Amino acid sequence: MRSAKEMGIKTVAIYSEADRLSPHVLYADQAVCLGPPPSSQSYLLADKIIQVCLEMEVDAIHPGYGFLSENASFSKKVTEAGLIFIGPSPESIEVMGSKLAAKQAVAQYDIPLVPGTEEAISDIAAAKTKAAEIGYPILIKASAGGGGKGMRIVEQEGDFEEQMQRAVSEAQSAFGDGAVFIEKYITSPRHIEIQILGDQHGSILHLFERECSIQRRHQKVIEEAPSAVVSPEMRKAMGEAAVGVAKACDYYGAGTVEFIVDEKLNFYFLEMNTRLQVEHPVTEMITGKDLVKEQIRIAQGEKLSFTQEDLQIQGHAIEVRVYAEDPKNNFLPDIGKLQTYRRPQGPGVRVDDGFEEGMDIPIYYDPMIAKLITYAESRQQAIDRMIRAIDEYQITGIETTLGFCRFALQHEAFVSGNFDTKFVDNYFSPAVLSPTLTDEEEELLAALAVEFFDKNKKATHSLASTAASKNQAGNWKNRLR
Ligand code: ADP
Ligand code: ADP
Ligand code: MG
Repeated sequence: MRSAKEMGIKTVAIYSEADRLSPHVLYADQAVCLGPPPSSQSYLLADKIIQVCLEMEVDAIHPGYGFLSENASFSKKVTEAGLIFIGPSPESIEVMGSKLAAKQAVAQYDIPLVPGTEEAISDIAAAKTKAAEIGYPILIKASAGGGGKGMRIVEQEGDFEEQMQRAVSEAQSAFGDGAVFIEKYITSPRHIEIQILGDQHGSILHLFERECSIQRRHQKVIEEAPSAVVSPEMRKAMGEAAVGVAKACDYYGAGTVEFIVDEKLNFYFLEMNTRLQVEHPVTEMITGKDLVKEQIRIAQGEKLSFTQEDLQIQGHAIEVRVYAEDPKNNFLPDIGKLQTYRRPQGPGVRVDDGFEEGMDIPIYYDPMIAKLITYAESRQQAIDRMIRAIDEYQITGIETTLGFCRFALQHEAFVSGNFDTKFVDNYFSPAVLSPTLTDEEEELLAALAVEFFDKNKKATHSLASTAASKNQAGNWKNRLR
């Protein structure tokens, strides 16, 4: 909406009853309530949203990310209603919405793929033979999966059948599509993705990479651009592969081609997200391009106003996702009221958020409350700035991922750039956030207390007489707990 406002475009917000007081509702020129909080009764009501648009004489719909943003039938309906869908064609969404169809589409473009099956698994015995060929561990993936959901690691052949059955039934219930396939499970991979922009006149460019390897539950928490391990040559090769993927589905609009990168820095195509990505601000920072404005211009039929050669990386940007989750409790959602909510400010700090002090975090949606982005000349300066910004961010009433992010940003592995998607498993434990005393430290403290007590016996005679009857350091230790 900020981008639209700068372009002189008026906006209409849609919202559910849970989001009545959300900043996006107050910011828009007009706002319309769609219905009760569950997204099935509000944000996912395609027909109702289109009807509202027609009544309000809206020209175009920006689908954001999540919800209907990657729904081909929604984009088709929007176009059929005479409205503009700010995104790619329904055909591109359809192909890339299925991880299997995507792999098939790019096959002729010489794009490296993770070893695995090319088709949905129908014959378990045949799949098992293939898995043995690929070598364990393998990953079973739902073709229609997303948001880090619909994946199962199989460590050994003996577990194959059971995991396969579970994967199929989960895929069926979560995505309405039981199609699953297998991929080699890359044990210590990095997730590096390329931002794409294409216009409706056949021109497709890439806007460099984003490093998204700090994840929990296969979902990103910290992203940065550029990546600390991508050389200019690798950037060029990945950029060209990503443009190839986009060409394979006649892509236009903004999109992201995701790659998994192994220890030897070989990269393999994972999937394409046919929408604006949560972490797009880091790309905006290092390229100086407003991706939402570009999306709008492309949707209006304009040609891209720059070439690949015009684009350059300037400086370094980092984003941390502020989720209402408790890192000390397995990153489980922690909903409640935002009792204190004060944003960090100052040079090189951007906050994209959706809440105000006093608001409740609803249980109905993804619990991301904000994205905090810092920008500076060098990577280390961007890290230092992020730690300063995290320290300025005041949030009470709920647990958030900020403390975890602060820990990660200071960790030697992150600082050196030598990390992968296993960062949380390898280095994080709740103890790093709330340093508790070790047994030895507790005993030392107890011994010190006893000594102190002995020296001051006179002054504290009455207290001493009670404690002296026990007269054991062990009791003190227990009392200190
Ligand atoms: P990104 O690839 O940009 O990091 P995410 O995978 O985190 O994006 O997803 C972006 C948003 O869309 C999140 O709010 C996420 O919960 C939601 N989302 C993505 N895919 C699905 C899905 N299949 N079902 C439900 N929500 C999804
Ligand atoms: P989603 O649609 O849920 O985003 P992706 O295919 O993009 O699914 O995978 C999400 C994450 O899961 C990746 O960023 C990576 O951490 C992990 N992952 C996916 N495929 C593999 C693989 N073959 N080996 C190891 N990790 C993988
Ligand atoms: Mg993905």
